[in-house]
Amino acid sequence: MTTPAIITVAITGAVPSKADNPAVPVLPAEQIDSTIAAFRAGASLVHVHVRDDAGQSSSDPARFAEVQAGIRRLCPGMIVQFSTGGRGRAQDERAKPLALKPDMASLATGSVNFATQIYENHPDLVVAMAEAMRDLGIKPEIEVFDLAMLYTTRTLLDRGVVVPPPHVQFVLGIPNALPARRRLLEFAVAELADLMPGATWTAAGIGRHQLAVARWALEMGGHVRTGLEDNLRYDRSRLAISNAELVEQVAALCPEHGRHPASPAEARAILGLPAAA
Ligand code: ZN
Repeated sequence: MTTPAIITVAITGAVPSKADNPAVPVLPAEQIDSTIAAFRAGASLVHVHVRDDAGQSSSDPARFAEVQAGIRRLCPGMIVQFSTGGRGRAQDERAKPLALKPDMASLATGSVNFATQIYENHPDLVVAMAEAMRDLGIKPEIEVFDLAMLYTTRTLLDRGVVVPPPHVQFVLGIPNALPARRRLLEFAVAELADLMPGATWTAAGIGRHQLAVARWALEMGGHVRTGLEDNLRYDRSRLAISNAELVEQVAALCPEHGRHPASPAEARAILGLPAAA
């Protein structure tokens, strides 16, 4: 018997362009096609950013609606998660697409430095977005870019702003944020279990750290994220890898660790989400 591992595919992100990798899906139709291929390769959760016509990161609810509708129609049961990330988006616009009631939305619970910028999440914005998710019945994925964000999550639970049990993602390998170190992930997972019993977690290794972090997560009982948002190439020799190929790589690691890619129904059960309509 193997246990299910939810494979998240982060198809687009805020930053990558076709100049980085022609397989980066930017238009809604491309995003839907890329998600279908990743779904067939074993992804059960899709993390969605959208772009405007100029290719810039956007909060346009119409774009989110189009992508969500296509995925719901063509990837039965797949969990749709909207990004509320701030890069390139006006602060007061970031929560707008939540009105479309995706299954999940990302929620960073603090601020952190990235390579060349500050990822700013004012405490009031964090609470406002968490309350919006709670009131709309959207499960947050808590994005832990720095460990203080883990402890802030406990505070949000205590205040009733986040509904237990939380689902947490540890993001490892962004320059100036948390490094991709196994001992750090082990500590963070132990703290999560101690502070928030019943929580589920996933880990994302950025860039060249992707597969190492995926192996750690599979071995430690967590879930895994991959996709072109996080990693444009799995090695230095190949640039045109697709989202589906990235998912295939992670799916292929599962059996070595007694895991299998979760079906959408399994993923929904693990995360406490209702069965797909
Ligand atoms: Zn994202």
